Amino acid sequence: VNLSVALDTNDRAEMLRMVEDFRPQKLRTMREFAEQEIIIPEGQYAGLPFRLHRQPWAKVWFDEIESGRWTQFCNIGSRQGGKTFLGSTIPLLYHIFEMRETAIFAAPLDEQIADKWKLILKPAILSSKYRDLIPTRGSGARGGSSNLNAIEFLNGVTMKFMTGGGTDKSRASFTSRVLIVTEVDGFDVIGGTSAESTKLAQMEGCTASYDNRARRFYECTASIETGKIWTSYTKGSCSLLYSPCPKCECYVNLERGNLIGWQDAKNVIEAGQKARYRCPKCNGDWAEDERRDSMQQMKIVHRGQKILDNGEVTGDPPETETLGFRWTVAQNLFVTASTVGKEEFTAMREARGDEGELKMRQFWWALPAAPEADDMHQLTIEGIASRLFAARQGETVESVKYVTVGVDVQKKYLYWTAIAWRDSGGGYILDYGIDPVDSDHLAEEEAISQSLTTLRSRFEDGWLCPTDGEYHQPNYVFIDCGNWMQVICDFAKSCENIRRGVYQAVRGCGTGGDFTKKYTTPPKAKKRQLYIGQCMHQVEYDAKRTVVEIDADYWKSWLFARLASPPDAASALLLYTPERGKGHFTFGRHLTAEKREAKYVEGKGVHVSWNRVSKHNHWLDASYYAAAASWPAGVRLAGEPKDPSPKEGPEPEQPKATEKITATRPDGRSWYDIGRRSVK
Ligand SMILES: [Zn+2]
Repeated sequence: VNLSVALDTNDRAEMLRMVEDFRPQKLRTMREFAEQEIIIPEGQYAGLPFRLHRQPWAKVWFDEIESGRWTQFCNIGSRQGGKTFLGSTIPLLYHIFEMRETAIFAAPLDEQIADKWKLILKPAILSSKYRDLIPTRGSGARGGSSNLNAIEFLNGVTMKFMTGGGTDKSRASFTSRVLIVTEVDGFDVIGGTSAESTKLAQMEGCTASYDNRARRFYECTASIETGKIWTSYTKGSCSLLYSPCPKCECYVNLERGNLIGWQDAKNVIEAGQKARYRCPKCNGDWAEDERRDSMQQMKIVHRGQKILDNGEVTGDPPETETLGFRWTVAQNLFVTASTVGKEEFTAMREARGDEGELKMRQFWWALPAAPEADDMHQLTIEGIASRLFAARQGETVESVKYVTVGVDVQKKYLYWTAIAWRDSGGGYILDYGIDPVDSDHLAEEEAISQSLTTLRSRFEDGWLCPTDGEYHQPNYVFIDCGNWMQVICDFAKSCENIRRGVYQAVRGCGTGGDFTKKYTTPPKAKKRQLYIGQCMHQVEYDAKRTVVEIDADYWKSWLFARLASPPDAASALLLYTPERGKGHFTFGRHLTAEKREAKYVEGKGVHVSWNRVSKHNHWLDASYYAAAASWPAGVRLAGEPKDPSPKEGPEPEQPKATEKITATRPDGRSWYDIGRRSVK
């Protein structure tokens, strides 16, 4: 073939590359490639050649990849077992260096891409014979790892990076046969704003023109049942791994229920000593070395297939292009039964039981969060409106210990909610309202400030308890300063002369759609130690602005858990009994204006956030500010930590009828303004 005919230089280069590609060469399988080329860059086998027998599920995994049966490969596995290395790193290196074809490597966040490149991919390449193919210049070069967009290796092959960030165009315009996605559940924002899942779909679109010759690899720990990895797994081949029992020789699949011995241990050491796997067929106990031998004979069974006791697999695999490959800590030879037993023992005793359980399911047993954890606290308008407490609007009762108020500030209205808290930790919504802001005639700042002043005088009058004639003033009033920060901070400061520390400018921080800032816990020891409470803390932005930042996701969940408790539970939150002919429906509509969404967060498991489904959510904001204000006031539920708060020391002074109170810390200082304590 004479290539020089009528080709410009670009065409020519392309043609030469094609000729190169078509030159007969024996391509190795991914398994052969892995064993011949990959040197383990880190961990207990660092520096040694990759060997399948160390982690036998890898053998089955590679065989399935080579089978030609699947287009998509989903790897769900436990921690510390090579999930990322086998599920994404080796496939990526194989396609780049052996197949010499473009591959897209994707992760939800930019920083994840930078991390994976720096900590996993680059070390793996550097320890292989392909190290000299890393370009010496550009962002992907040996030194750098920031602003990763693509790396063109010196063999002419491009590794394209994609994340949930960036423009849609950057994803839509690229074409590649190979897509490899790590931490894939991070793309899910389940059921809510579909922007993130759309981004993953756009990446998948890059492989569309290859039809069933495309190869898409996904890898993750299972997050929730509706997450990408779990739905792909269950709708795909939904495969399980079986291996022969050392006692009865039958092929069995080990799951969480087959790890025994740790449950009745007296302490964690005993849990580790007693933990062992027990055969579901013959109840024989497996020693660790027996488990090692058994796993070498592992077989995969797809949905709809059966495995006979002798290991013969019968039946046809399901009609799907997706391999759903799941292995748990029971098939993970890097982790012993003893270690898992200790983890189980500890997790069961963790203060927040759900989190321990979640961790075990996701990180060790490759299972998504139990569905209850995901579905709870979805409230209905009717449900909220029917939770009535025997008090009329604005009435307190003798058992009321604290009153807290939240105010949501809008351009034309102030929405506020007042909650009365009883000794039990539960309480009732004592009053709520909407007050006009005259921003049509006054400057916004002035109008807001004026309306707040009017509202304050009502709050300072207090709410009457008809049986003892006492008035309850609010212990704390949290005022949203999200949109008018300086106005609200100034207003809060002006309240210092009325009752010190009671009126606070607050800012909701969260992961849902409306937030401009995520909530982050402040470091414990700071130079000027401002107040730190449960999922809230005080920050001094500058001399004129001191703000309480609140974890909106936490406090909304907390509020909703109270509103979802059985009405007679100690921690239940109810609503005052409205007058005849009136209901709480509008209020209920505001409270249900956001939908709870569970989302997978790398390293943390499932994170709950709230996303707006209706724009009328102002009383929800006001109510969760009031709920959050219960913490500094001293409201505690059974099991909640008792960290810095007035309640830890002597009882705080109770607000009473006409008495001007100051919220104080145990040592007598106002807990809120340590930074300004010279004011006294
Ligand atoms: Zn057995």
